[in-house]
Amino acid sequence: MNEELKRRIGERRAAVDGELIALSNALHADPELGWQEHRSSAAVADLLAAHGFAIEQPYLGLETAFRAVCNPGAGFTVGFLAEYDALPGLGHACGHNLISAMSAGGAIGLSEVAREAGITVEVIGTPAEEGYGGKIELLERGAFTELDFALMAHPAPVDVAEAEPFAVAHWHIQYDGRAAHAAAYPERGVNANDAFIIAQTAIALLRQQLPKSVRVHGVQTRGGEAPNAIPERTEGRWYVRAETTEQLLELEQRVLKCFEAGALATGAKLTVTPEGGRYSEMRTDLEAQELYRANAIRLGRDFDVDPVAATMNRASTDMGNVSLIVNAIHPYIGVGGDASNHQPAFADACVGAVAEQTLRDGATALAWTALDVALGRS
Ligand SMILES: [Zn+2]
Ligand SMILES: [Zn+2]
Repeated sequence: MNEELKRRIGERRAAVDGELIALSNALHADPELGWQEHRSSAAVADLLAAHGFAIEQPYLGLETAFRAVCNPGAGFTVGFLAEYDALPGLGHACGHNLISAMSAGGAIGLSEVAREAGITVEVIGTPAEEGYGGKIELLERGAFTELDFALMAHPAPVDVAEAEPFAVAHWHIQYDGRAAHAAAYPERGVNANDAFIIAQTAIALLRQQLPKSVRVHGVQTRGGEAPNAIPERTEGRWYVRAETTEQLLELEQRVLKCFEAGALATGAKLTVTPEGGRYSEMRTDLEAQELYRANAIRLGRDFDVDPVAATMNRASTDMGNVSLIVNAIHPYIGVGGDASNHQPAFADACVGAVAEQTLRDGATALAWTALDVALGRS
């Protein structure tokens, strides 16, 4: 029965390939940042509505989130997660346009057999993955609890079945000092930019004592207004990453001390504001992961990749938080070429013939995996 259902899923997906590619291209051509994905989320939801899904948008009070449901009330509920936010200045350099198209294509393919397989098929549109934790916001509002299994595939340089994301905290940093004429009355100033210099120097020195498995990185987004005015306010965005939330909490305290050092030395006031909830490590459903790998190999995907290239997939994802309450997988799927995520060339790689094959394979592999999991567990 499985084989017959899989054949029909593949055929249904193939029948909508043109629409999936058009969706992916449209998102790519019109990148929207986290929490502002109005056109993108509507485009994904519209496609699903056209294929028989009932749409709820806004979802749980979030304008750019949605839920699409097909065959409600069946015994087993599968949720395909769709991300669609882009990066400032880099467009779709993380390939979230393909995530949306793969999840929509997987869900439409699976919907073909939903009734006889006893599956409720959902797509949850999850905004703001790039740093603002849209899925965490959704979790706090009660999302995902109805799911028996959640899945998505993320574009990457090469195919890697297992996600090993870092836990991460995202901080907005602000120093407030006092402006003064830099030549006439410098002694009246409190230099909020020097505070950043001290903090960054302290972090750079701290690295010597940090384990290899953590990451601390950021950008200063405001450094001052004029060379002849002592900077009164400076701002930045910093990420701290570790293997687990537990390790992260410890590391955060050490990095905070570096920012406090900037304030202490200059007299500027420090304000640290989280930009969203902490992303956790991932608890992968290993059995489902191996089903995905087998399905993807059957479609011609290659997991026998250079181990160095494979480690480039280590980032962070708010899917980690979802995986703590729902069985979940988050495999990476290759788009070819030399570029890696968050490079302009990676955005280029997320459209075109190779990306379209990635889309087709990813959609089918996800749908087949969801079917295998549902039939094996319901
Ligand atoms: Zn990214
Ligand atoms: Zn991403």
